[in-house]
Amino acid sequence: MIVCKFGGTSVGDAAAISRAAAIVAGRRARQPIVVVSALGGTTNELLRVAEQAAKGQLIGALRAIEALRDRHLAQCDALLAGDPGAAEIANELSAMFDELASLAEALNTLGDLTPRSLDAIASLGEQLSSVLVVAAFLRHGLDAEHVDARQVLITDNRFTCAEPQAEAISEAAQRLLMPILRAGRIPVLGGFIGSAQGTTITTTLGRGGSDYSASLIGAALQADAVEIWTDVDGMLTADPRVVPGARLVQRIVFDEASE
Ligand code: ASP
Ligand code: MG
Repeated sequence: MIVCKFGGTSVGDAAAISRAAAIVAGRRARQPIVVVSALGGTTNELLRVAEQAAKGQLIGALRAIEALRDRHLAQCDALLAGDPGAAEIANELSAMFDELASLAEALNTLGDLTPRSLDAIASLGEQLSSVLVVAAFLRHGLDAEHVDARQVLITDNRFTCAEPQAEAISEAAQRLLMPILRAGRIPVLGGFIGSAQGTTITTTLGRGGSDYSASLIGAALQADAVEIWTDVDGMLTADPRVVPGARLVQRIVFDEASE
């Protein structure tokens, strides 16, 4: 079994999601578990919505929510056009945006932004992307099944930078993911998000946490490999946005990579 994680750009739009489906289809024999980020840029937007709402800029926040809704529904349309289940998925996505709008209104009334409410909002990106990706995978003939990552990624209650609880994750991954794999299906879950142990309160692992989610699941189930799919070819000698001639590094040790 392997874990395949797709970052924000790799699920950024319908074309990227279709490419991800093709990559997963090519790995079916290795029993993939798929972890996805939010559609690129979504988490930043969600955090901005939360801040705006708490600062009393409700109109701006609601406008940004509608823009995000339009973007997600447009990709849903592009992926599922003509599919009899398309309307149901669109409704499911839309309901999450209604929930987001209610949260924004509540923050606007309270005028206060706690780490816990920040996580409730930031987590929506992966809740949305995972539902959309499952629908798209099914459309591509992949036997995908959605798993609510919050039931697997059990953490403590340090909101916005929650600490994963390895034993609880291992137990939940065995219980919730293995039966799906055994049935020959492909579990798909959002990265980055979890829930506080013993509760149903949403937490997040911190920005960029989807790679971490994939690694935690891989470790919990002793996967043969954890693959992190992203939109660059690998590690470069410098930031290519700054140094146009940056070259691809073929081999690198961990210390050098982290530097
Ligand atoms: N969507 C989250 C973020 O932008 C997590 C991730 O993509 O790894 O930080
Ligand atoms: Mg990332």
